[in-house]
Amino acid sequence: MQDKENIETEIPLQKVPASSVQIYFRLLGYVRSSWVYLLLSVIGYVIYAAMEPALAALLKHIVDIVSAGNISESRLLIPMAILGVFIARGVGTFLGNYFMAKVANNVVFDLRTHMFNKLVLLPSSYYHSIPTGRLLAKLTYDTEQVIGSITQAIRVLLREGLTVVGLLGYMIYMNWRLSLLFLLVVPLIGLVVSYASKRFRKLSTRIQNAMGGVTDVASEAIKGHEVVKIFGGSEYEIERFHKAAHENRRSQLKMEMTKSLNIPIVQFILAVMMAILIWFALSPSISSHMSPGDFIAFLTAAGMLGKPIRQLTDVNSILQKGIAASYSIFDFLDLPEEVDKGQATTTAFKGHIEWRDMSFKYPGAEKQTLTNINLSLPAGKTLALVGRSGSGKSTIANLIARFYDVDDGLLSIDGVAINDYKLTELRSNIALVNQQVVLFNGTIRENIAYGSLRDTAIENVVEAAKAANAWDFIQELDHGLDTMVGENGVLLSGGQRQRIAIARAILKNAPILILDEATSALDTESERAIQAALDGLMANRTTIAIAHRLSTIENADIIAVVDHGEIIEQGSHSELLAKNGAYAQLHNQQFSEIPL
Ligand code: ADP
Repeated sequence: MQDKENIETEIPLQKVPASSVQIYFRLLGYVRSSWVYLLLSVIGYVIYAAMEPALAALLKHIVDIVSAGNISESRLLIPMAILGVFIARGVGTFLGNYFMAKVANNVVFDLRTHMFNKLVLLPSSYYHSIPTGRLLAKLTYDTEQVIGSITQAIRVLLREGLTVVGLLGYMIYMNWRLSLLFLLVVPLIGLVVSYASKRFRKLSTRIQNAMGGVTDVASEAIKGHEVVKIFGGSEYEIERFHKAAHENRRSQLKMEMTKSLNIPIVQFILAVMMAILIWFALSPSISSHMSPGDFIAFLTAAGMLGKPIRQLTDVNSILQKGIAASYSIFDFLDLPEEVDKGQATTTAFKGHIEWRDMSFKYPGAEKQTLTNINLSLPAGKTLALVGRSGSGKSTIANLIARFYDVDDGLLSIDGVAINDYKLTELRSNIALVNQQVVLFNGTIRENIAYGSLRDTAIENVVEAAKAANAWDFIQELDHGLDTMVGENGVLLSGGQRQRIAIARAILKNAPILILDEATSALDTESERAIQAALDGLMANRTTIAIAHRLSTIENADIIAVVDHGEIIEQGSHSELLAKNGAYAQLHNQQFSEIPL
């Protein structure tokens, strides 16, 4: 809820409307590296456009020759010329279209890779503030809208625009007075176009938002299908999806309606113009000096203008769609990245962690999540955080890796505030195993030796798997370490996945280890085995362990009880039991809950 409010207040600020021109220029910036292809494409379209007046000119010759009665001379020449014109037009079309597609695909490639590069650098708060579906739609749908905009719009603008220029040029050359009349109608077309373009822009933004809605609902329903089934949410989800799809259809139809109206209106204006033109053309004072060939060629050229002008007006909807998509893409590319101003570098931490009057509030949240945390965790020791769910344990642990910035009080490692470390440096010293194990689509080996560990020798991977008590089950799989795990590791049980995550942390061999309910997915049998592995792993490093089952953290050097974002008790297991306070109460509760 708090997150939502956060987005609503932030997005309008980020959407300071950049004018369409600025957006074009920014998009053009992406085209710059493909300028050779763009040039080839322009050459293609110039050839294409030149062939239109050439056809009209050819027609003039045919008519003049036929009316003069000396056909025999040109009997072969004219058909050859017709073939020549069409061959040139074909070559022009190919060059233009193919190289334009090449430019567009390069742009989309660049946009997508830039967006992904950005994505991995964004702060955790961003990931929490936007539904996955919306984010995926940005990477896929929005970038494709841009491809549509770039290829189609520039193609039509160039090809048809040049054709219009060529034909008009020819017409002016033939009879400038008649052409002037013709040009009078152009502003009228301009009016229709500008009206339609405004509407398109509004509509395409709506369609895009509705598209996001469709993917949001679907992706939630897919991810949460078990919850949907068990809690009887199918009808609710169906209704939600129906609504989103309905909104999408409505907007699409509205768009089509404007588009469909746009074409006949422009065509009618053209017809009126043609009628007036013919009326004037038939007046002796204007066209007395024109030969029959001139006359027919002029009208043909004017008639030929219809198609390119129509297409030019149509290009607006495509262009506006692209612009709307570019807004969303550039907004994303302009998001601030994780702050990384730290300078301090030490290759290996000792791992002494100190919290001094540290308070923390999630961005956009109303109330304080953590208040006045004071703790000192000497290097190599273990801190266990216990307390009710939602009390702030994970937040304390996550702040060490700077998933969020601490700006109230101090959190330091080896005497240096964590904000002063370079982020990569800080994180390379921390290993993390959390409750929601993330496995990537790849082999088990790739999942254990992930990221900066990917070049680790196989013996070390095996050793880590053994230490995490995962080697036995890995060996039993058909392909051992090279077994592919499905997306998110669907082929493995919860306990097996957790052990792979532990192996990953063991392999990282970092001085600071965060275990956030790391043994929660394990059955008692494997928990015991893993606990032994974890005990070994924790022995020589600073560990922060969050455990629901108190039995797993009894040996911790310091146990801190967190309640409503505050540490209400700290000490060793025996000290806290002797104190008979909150910890003792939790302990007794769990003890009585465990069936004997
Ligand atoms: P615990 O680990 O003890 O269950 P957490 O540290 O996960 O507790 O959460 C502490 C509080 O912070 C809760 O009230 C939770 O709603 C809130 N919280 C957790 N994550 C976020 C987040 N990304 N944005 C805003 N609030 C959050």
